[in-house]
Amino acid sequence: MRASQLYAPTLREVPAEAELVSHQYMLRAGLMRKSASGVYSYLPLGVRVLHKIMAIIREELDQAGAQEIMLPIVQPAELWQESGRWNEYGPEMFRLLDRHQRQFCLGPTHEEIITALVRTDVRSYKQLPLRLYQIQNKYRDEIRPRFGVIRSREFIMKDLYSFDRDESGAQASYQAMYDAYTRIFARCGLKAHPVEADTGAIGGDQSHEFMVLGDAGEDLIVFCPHCGYAANVERAECVPYDPDEESAALAKLEKIATPGITTVEELTKRLQIEPGQVIKTMIYIADGKPVAVLISGNHDVNEIKLKRALNCDQLELADAQTIATVTNAPVGFAGPVGLTIPIFADYSVTTVVNGVSGANKKDYHLRNVNINRDYTPTQILDLREARAGERCVRCGQILEEARGTEVGQVFYLGTKYSQPMKAVFLDQEGQERPFVMGCYGIGVSRTMAAIIEQHHDEDGIRWPVSVAPYSVIVVPISYKDEEQRSVAEHIYKTLTSAGIDAILDDRDERPGVKFKDADLIGYPLRITVGPKHLVDGNVELRLRSSKEQFVVPIAEIDNQVSTFLNRIGE
Ligand SMILES: [Zn+2]
Repeated sequence: MRASQLYAPTLREVPAEAELVSHQYMLRAGLMRKSASGVYSYLPLGVRVLHKIMAIIREELDQAGAQEIMLPIVQPAELWQESGRWNEYGPEMFRLLDRHQRQFCLGPTHEEIITALVRTDVRSYKQLPLRLYQIQNKYRDEIRPRFGVIRSREFIMKDLYSFDRDESGAQASYQAMYDAYTRIFARCGLKAHPVEADTGAIGGDQSHEFMVLGDAGEDLIVFCPHCGYAANVERAECVPYDPDEESAALAKLEKIATPGITTVEELTKRLQIEPGQVIKTMIYIADGKPVAVLISGNHDVNEIKLKRALNCDQLELADAQTIATVTNAPVGFAGPVGLTIPIFADYSVTTVVNGVSGANKKDYHLRNVNINRDYTPTQILDLREARAGERCVRCGQILEEARGTEVGQVFYLGTKYSQPMKAVFLDQEGQERPFVMGCYGIGVSRTMAAIIEQHHDEDGIRWPVSVAPYSVIVVPISYKDEEQRSVAEHIYKTLTSAGIDAILDDRDERPGVKFKDADLIGYPLRITVGPKHLVDGNVELRLRSSKEQFVVPIAEIDNQVSTFLNRIGE
C-alpha cells in the first residue's frame, strides 16, 4: 500500500467526543468515524486490524474443533417468545415490525436462532459434540453509548455455541473454549484475566469474563493475591461476618429526634458514629411486593445478588408513596423495628451491636438497635457488593480490587434454552434428551480498543505485530529525491515480495508530518531512507514500541525486518 492512496484521515487534535485513549486514537489515527451515537464506520486501517484479530480467533477456534457459520441479524419474535426472553430482554433490544406487522429484533445475541437451527437437523448423540460460531454485528440499544466501540449500539462480536450430550461433555467444551480464549487474547498482545462473572441476561449456571485490567475499565473486580480467586463485584461472594469476640453489652433501645436527617452521611455526622453502626433499610418492590433489605451503612446492596436471592423477575427500589405506606414515614426514616413486610438482611448487619436505624416515624431514628432482640430478619444472606479489604471466600486472605474491561465471556448454559425450546436428541438408549449447551462471546471491536488501551504512548498507538494494520512503514525523508525514492521503492518491493505487510509513505510531505502519522497510526517498524545513512548503503530501522533505532544495510533489509518482527512479536 502507498500512503498517497491510503484512506486514513489522521487528526492532530484530540476529538472532544472521546474520553478514553482508545477512542481518541481510533479517531485520530483514522481507523473509524462516528456515523450515529454508538454506531461507527471502520476505515481501511481499522478493517485491517479487525481482520487480523478475526484471523487469530478463527485459527484458534477451528483448532478447538469449532466450525464457522453465519446466522441472520434479523430474528423473528416467535423464537424469543419460545425461550421467554422476548419480554425479559427489555429496552436494550432493537425491535422492529415488517410490512405485515410481524415482530422482529436485531440480534443482540443468537441463542434462540441457533437452538432452533440445531434442533431441526441434529437428532442423534452421534452428531455431538457440535461447536458452531460466527463473527458478525450485534445490536444493543444502550441507554448511554460511550467510550467509542467499548460501549456502542452496533458492535462486532464472535459468538460460539456448544451442544453436548451431557454435563461432562459440556464442561469439556467450556474448558476448551476457556483455553482457546486464553490463547486468542495472548496472541492479540492482550493481558486478559479470567474472572468469575454473573450470567446476566444470557443466564446459565457458570460464567467467566476475560478482563483487561486498566483504570479506564467499566467493570470493578475483586481478586485475591494469595489464592488467585478473581470475580466481577456483581458476582463476587462475600463471607459471613464472624461475631466479635467481645461484643458490647446491649443497651436500651431509644428513640432520638433527627429532624430532616435522611442519609447515612448526615446521620453519622450528627451522631458522631461510623457508617458501619448504621443499619441501612432499603424498601424494594420484588415482583410487585414490598420487601425490606438491611445492610450496614458502609456497604452497598448488590441488586444482582438480591434479585437472585429473592428469585424474582422484576426488582426496583420502592417509590416514595410505597415507602410511606409500608413504613408510615417519608423516605429516609425506614428501620427494621416493627416492620411487617419480609426483611432480608445482609451478613454485615449481624455484627452491628447497638446500631442506629430509622424509627419508621418522620424525623426520628432509633439508637441501640440489636438484631434478634429488636427485630428478626426473614433471612440473613450475602447481599452486598464485595470491596477491597474484605476476606476472600476461598482462602480468607484480604481481597484487592481493580478496574477492567470485559473482552470475552464464556457461559455454561446447561439446558436453559434447549429445555423450553424442545431442542432434543436421541441418546444411546434411544431416549430423548435436551442438548446441554454453552455459549461464548468475544467482543471483536472492543478487543481492538482494549489492545490500544494496553499499547499506546503520548504519540499514538503501539500495535503488537500480530494485529498491526501494517507491520512496517518505509519513509523516505524526501520522496522527490531520486536516490531516496528508488531505494524506498526497492525496499518496499523487497518486503512485499517477502510476504511482509508493508506500506510506503510516498507523499510529498515534510518528514515531521510523516513521522508523526507513522507514530500515531503505530506501525511496529519504521524504515527511514535518508541521505545520512544512504552514503554507506544503509537505512535506519526504528522500533515503535521502544523507540530504539538501528542502522541496517539495504542489502539485508528483508532478513533484518523479519528478525526484528519476530523479536518484538514474541
Ligand atoms: Zn484467596
